[in-house]
Amino acid sequence: MSGSVFYKMSQMETEYTVGDALFSKKEIDDRTRELAGQIVRDVRGEELLVVGILSGAVFFLTDLVRCLPRELDVKIDFMSVSSYGDATTSSGTVRILKDLGSDIAGRNVLVVEDIIDTGLTLSYLLKILKARHPKSLRTCVLLDKSARRETAVDVDYCGFNAPDVFVVGYGLDCGGRYRHLPDIHVVNL
Ligand code: 5GP
Repeated sequence: MSGSVFYKMSQMETEYTVGDALFSKKEIDDRTRELAGQIVRDVRGEELLVVGILSGAVFFLTDLVRCLPRELDVKIDFMSVSSYGDATTSSGTVRILKDLGSDIAGRNVLVVEDIIDTGLTLSYLLKILKARHPKSLRTCVLLDKSARRETAVDVDYCGFNAPDVFVVGYGLDCGGRYRHLPDIHVVNL
């Protein structure tokens, strides 16, 4: 997207504009390949269950798993939790909207999330998943807003450190919009 093009979210109470790309698809792709390499080294040929958190992480997950070699026994499942509604700040309330379709006991689980902000969502999820006795439980997040962390969370694989700004694109939305943008952009509130 060129620097002079702005999108206005006309049906929201506040006016937002979507600015220039913070991370381009090319940067995301390059980093995703590196992360996949690290994951392959750590999994050491064992089965890997990749758990995507709907809906934001879908774009990242599908690109990530396609960087994994065909020899690796990769399976995919999804969970959906509520963390943010249409607002751009955390509600602090986390609910499971859709649970996994498979049992994770004794399996190597990799949770893939789009962005970690306060850490409330991921720490809650990890607590639930740990109680199901996986063999290993790792986390992979594309963006880490570490400056805003309220709860300590172990992030095993991190794409990029992100500044304290609200971002959209590459699966990330604002009021349901902009998930389809290939790059990640800053929202100007
Ligand atoms: P946390 O619980 O760590 O505060 O928030 C995690 C969730 O908040 C993410 O999965 C994502 O849905 C949402 N989130 C946090 N920061 C942003 C952001 O900058 N942009 C978008 N679109 N969602 C965000």
